[in-house]
Amino acid sequence: MQTFPSLSRLKLVGVAVCLLPLACSNDAPAADDEELEPWQQAEKTQVWDPEPRTVTARPGEPPSDAIVLFDGSDLNQWETTDGEPAQWTLNDDGSMTVKPGTGGIQTKQAFCDVQLHVEWRAPTVIEEGMDGQNRGNSGVFLQQRYEVQVLDSYNNRTYANGQAASIYKQHIPLVNAMRPTGEWQDYDIIFQAPRFTGQGDVDSPAHITVLHNGVLVQNHVEVKGTTAWIGEPSYESHDCAPLYLQDHGDLVSFRNIWIREL
Ligand code: MG
Repeated sequence: MQTFPSLSRLKLVGVAVCLLPLACSNDAPAADDEELEPWQQAEKTQVWDPEPRTVTARPGEPPSDAIVLFDGSDLNQWETTDGEPAQWTLNDDGSMTVKPGTGGIQTKQAFCDVQLHVEWRAPTVIEEGMDGQNRGNSGVFLQQRYEVQVLDSYNNRTYANGQAASIYKQHIPLVNAMRPTGEWQDYDIIFQAPRFTGQGDVDSPAHITVLHNGVLVQNHVEVKGTTAWIGEPSYESHDCAPLYLQDHGDLVSFRNIWIREL
C-alpha cells in the first residue's frame, strides 16, 4: 500500500501551486531538494540566531541572572506601602517573619513579566480558632494586585478558591501540594503582566503559572483582575509594579526570594 505520494508527484503539486499568484513561499520545497543529502535538507530548518545567553543555575541557588530580593541578610529591598523601612522580623535562620500589625511589605523595585521563587512557612503553633482562613494566611501579590494565596492548607479545609496556591477568589489550584504544617513550602511562579491600551482598557489580561513544591497547580490561568475579597475582580490600568507580601495577622515566614525579569 502506498502511504505517501511519490516525490515526483509532490514536485508536480508544488509547481502547480506556485503558478497561483502569492501562493509561492520560500518554504516550498526547492526542485533540487531531493538531490541533497538528508543532513543537508535537515540543515535548511536549523535556526542559529539569536543564540540564548548563558544562565547558570545550581541546585538550591538563584539562577545567575536573578535579582535576589531576600537572602536572609537584610530587608533592604523591601519597604512598607508608605515607603518606610520594612518592619518584619529578621530571623537567625535566614528567614523573615510577618510582624502583625506593621502591614505588608513590597519591593522597592517595580516588575512586569517575571519568574519568581518564594519559600514560605506557616507557624507550627496552632491555637484555638486558627482554622480556615485564619491559619498561616499571607499572600504573594504580583504587581501589588494579583494574589497567589499563602495559607496553611495542610489538613485545613477552606473554600477551594481561597486555599494555598489559589489565585485568590479566581482559580482553584489543580491539586493540594501542601507539605505538613511547619515545613517550608516552595512557590515557583511565572507571571505575564496584563497589557493596557492607551485608553486604559485591557489589551491582554495577566496570566499566572504556579508550581507548589514542584507540582503544577496553576497552568497559565487568566487573571480576571485585581484580587477582591468581596465581589467580582476587575482591572484598573497600571504600569509595572512592586511585588507585595501580605500581613494578614499570622506569623508566616519567608526565605530565599528571587525574581527574574522576563
Ligand atoms: Mg492571603
